[in-house]
Amino acid sequence: MKTATLNKGKETKYLNEYPLIEEEDLYAYDHLKDGELFHLVNDQGNYIATAYVGKQHKGIGWVLSYDKNEVINTQFFERLFEIAKEDRQYFYNIEGTNAFRIFNGEGDGVGGLTIDNYDGHFLIQWYSKGIYKFRYSVLQAFKNVFEYTSIFEKTRFKDAQIDGGFVDGEAPEFPIVIEENFTFYNVDLNDGPMTGIFLDQREVRKKLKDQFSENKRLLNVFSYTGAFSVAAVEHAKVTTSVDLANRSRPLTEENFGLNGIDPKSQYIFVMDTFDFFNYASRHQFDYDTIVVDPPSFARNKKKTFSVTKDYDKLIQGALQVLAPQGTMLLCTNNSTFNLKAFKKVVKDTLTQAGVDFELAEVMGLPKDFKTHPHYKPSKYLKAIFVKIQ
Ligand code: SAH
Repeated sequence: MKTATLNKGKETKYLNEYPLIEEEDLYAYDHLKDGELFHLVNDQGNYIATAYVGKQHKGIGWVLSYDKNEVINTQFFERLFEIAKEDRQYFYNIEGTNAFRIFNGEGDGVGGLTIDNYDGHFLIQWYSKGIYKFRYSVLQAFKNVFEYTSIFEKTRFKDAQIDGGFVDGEAPEFPIVIEENFTFYNVDLNDGPMTGIFLDQREVRKKLKDQFSENKRLLNVFSYTGAFSVAAVEHAKVTTSVDLANRSRPLTEENFGLNGIDPKSQYIFVMDTFDFFNYASRHQFDYDTIVVDPPSFARNKKKTFSVTKDYDKLIQGALQVLAPQGTMLLCTNNSTFNLKAFKKVVKDTLTQAGVDFELAEVMGLPKDFKTHPHYKPSKYLKAIFVKIQ
């Protein structure tokens, strides 16, 4: 097997089980190709870990094992899948929820690979050319361990030759309906990069519904298929969903309809979020609860938006239309924008705006999105409920 040698003094973090192999720590790695296995060794040539080459984030690959004799084959993936399945027994057994993540990348032992279960229809996502090279073994292992109705896949790397789509089983007619905390949502595993619902926000949606929606006028910006609005609508006075994409309107209406809500009883705007804040404040609309869950980057006409640089503007915009004693739910899924930095932006922006506030809840990923104890970016989701006095 090939080896990759760490620069002198760089081994400590890998001995402490940091799973992502960073380019700058290696003496040389040009000899390694996507999907190749290699032994990571220190500058003395001593074995530290077995890893595969797969370029993602700042890394050139992920550690798979700390046992020099471990063979990376179908049985290896089967063992990890068995553990991951065991770990999710809670989700297999609860009522009212049938969509959850069963394998979460490095958190479950293989960076670059995630698998979600949407009521028996599974979605495998490959995050690099490297992990995609293990496709045959991973699929074999998957079929041996999990019961499934169908398997779909998506690639999260650029390669014109490789397309995602149907893999095996009985393909359903999309959209399928999944259930989460007794609420129904449409899902399509075969339509672009997104599926209709972000499963990682499950507990945040529940918290919003249970504690911040009762009799409230709710505004949901960057609403996509309206998942936050749909979760909250049962208790809310009324919901308003705002998204720039035309298709967000029918998708949101259908999700309301699935839950017995007349979509015409709710407001849906196909509009830029910042334009909406201006429009709503001109018309003196105000909202008791505002959900802000933006993409990390967005481009609209000539403007670009990046959460790391522009989150303050979103908070300022939301404040313009927030009712007295209102609550904002501020989220980001950007792994480079850590909780400390995010909290600082929230606090600084609100302090500068001259409002009194309290961070009522700070939430992260649910248990099925198992994170890696020695790799902080794996806790990418931050959701903060802020009460304004
Ligand atoms: N909050 C959503 C997920 C957001 S996905 C949920 O809970 O499911 C990102 C969404 O932001 C996309 O639907 C995209 O159309 C929308 N978007 C991007 N830029 C926007 C903008 N400037 N104004 C409004 N929506 C925007």
